[in-house]
Amino acid sequence: MGEMMVGAQEISLNVIRPTPGENLTITNGSTFVIGTVSPPNATLTVNGTPADVLTDGAFIAFAPVQQLVNPQTVRIGDGKRKKSDAAFEFIARVGDKVSRLNVLVATPAATKTPEPSIVSFAKPIPYRVKEEQILSRTATTNWGLLYLPVGAAVVANARRGDQVRLQLPETQETWVAESTLQSADSMPAINFEPVNRSGSAESRFPLSALAPYSIEALPSASTLRLTVYAPESARSVGVPWNGELWGFATRVERTTIVLSLRWPSSSKSGLRDKTICVDPGHNPDTGAVGPRGLTEKAVNLKIGLALEKLLTNAGAKVVFTHRDEPLPLLQRRPVALKLNPDIFVSLHNNSVPDGTDPRTNFGTSTFYYHPHSKPLADAVHAAMLKGLGWPDQKVQQKSLAVCRISEFPAILVEPAYIILPDQEKFLRSEAGQQKIAQAVFEGIRSFFESSN
Ligand SMILES: [Zn+2]
Repeated sequence: MGEMMVGAQEISLNVIRPTPGENLTITNGSTFVIGTVSPPNATLTVNGTPADVLTDGAFIAFAPVQQLVNPQTVRIGDGKRKKSDAAFEFIARVGDKVSRLNVLVATPAATKTPEPSIVSFAKPIPYRVKEEQILSRTATTNWGLLYLPVGAAVVANARRGDQVRLQLPETQETWVAESTLQSADSMPAINFEPVNRSGSAESRFPLSALAPYSIEALPSASTLRLTVYAPESARSVGVPWNGELWGFATRVERTTIVLSLRWPSSSKSGLRDKTICVDPGHNPDTGAVGPRGLTEKAVNLKIGLALEKLLTNAGAKVVFTHRDEPLPLLQRRPVALKLNPDIFVSLHNNSVPDGTDPRTNFGTSTFYYHPHSKPLADAVHAAMLKGLGWPDQKVQQKSLAVCRISEFPAILVEPAYIILPDQEKFLRSEAGQQKIAQAVFEGIRSFFESSN
């Protein structure tokens, strides 16, 4: 964001979005622009479209992207310059005073780099996995994690840029960075004799050599399906469970895959003595930013601290993935696993992609990935709808990094839209933060009360 005093000195405009040189994801159509204008009785248009201006000057418009006849360069942070091919022209009027401001941006047409072409290998090349990777699948019919443990034997059959394509039957195309693999002399035989085991918390699956494997939940059958992949074939085994699955963990011991199932402990009724992991979304990045400059990073933490008080008063123990200090997204899972909570709740507030008008597409949404996380998502979502009263943007299954945590129920909530002027106002107020924390708290409480 940048403070820009323009034109007649009585009128000032502070545009939060777009930022100069910002990459849009659309070339045509409209997108949201937000900021503040002073004095607040100014009328404001953005590329000819009137903005909605609140009484304190916060504004939002859904403005058409205006292509430049001739692309220009724009100065961005660090004194760098960047090619821009579109503009948003802000015109603010008060009486006969007029202020104009142009913000130049880049559309995909200006920024796209051609994708490298796919080169197929004449013969598959053997590798060993050097860096562990856990990939997710997101097909409507095929959710589950694909594990590439360190030392797993794989073959690749094509290259695209610095990525190679693994030959894994029955999976969608799997591309990984070649730098995460090391070359191998040969591909060992992968022998896996599926055994059915039930009832025990831990199942061991010895292989003749370590290989990639996937775990899918089949909730209707109360089964986890473990599949081991050799280059030409895949073998599966079902691991059934009884009652309510709380989560699962996998690890590798030499060439044996160990799968542990977790159930709710017998004392699961009520919040007392439960450990709740609160994950305030974002930081070091700001996350989405509201018209007045409120960041997700700041407000997600405030809601988290209010939630902590409510949970602690109810006898639960609260642990945070982080508070004020930055924690990169991909470090949140390992931190949460160390904290070993009963449940994990990531707090966010929402924005929209380019091309969507947030004034008519807003509400409350809740995300999960593993089916065993859905009861928690349902409970917290219902409580937020009841407590906040905004439109229902549903409980959604989505492959978000923190939702892929499998060891305990893990969800991500988006109670409000921080980019909307009125919702940012709500989020800035202590009463608003308290109301959201209360709704999330009620959801967690009802989850623990109903989970036995
Ligand atoms: Zn967020």
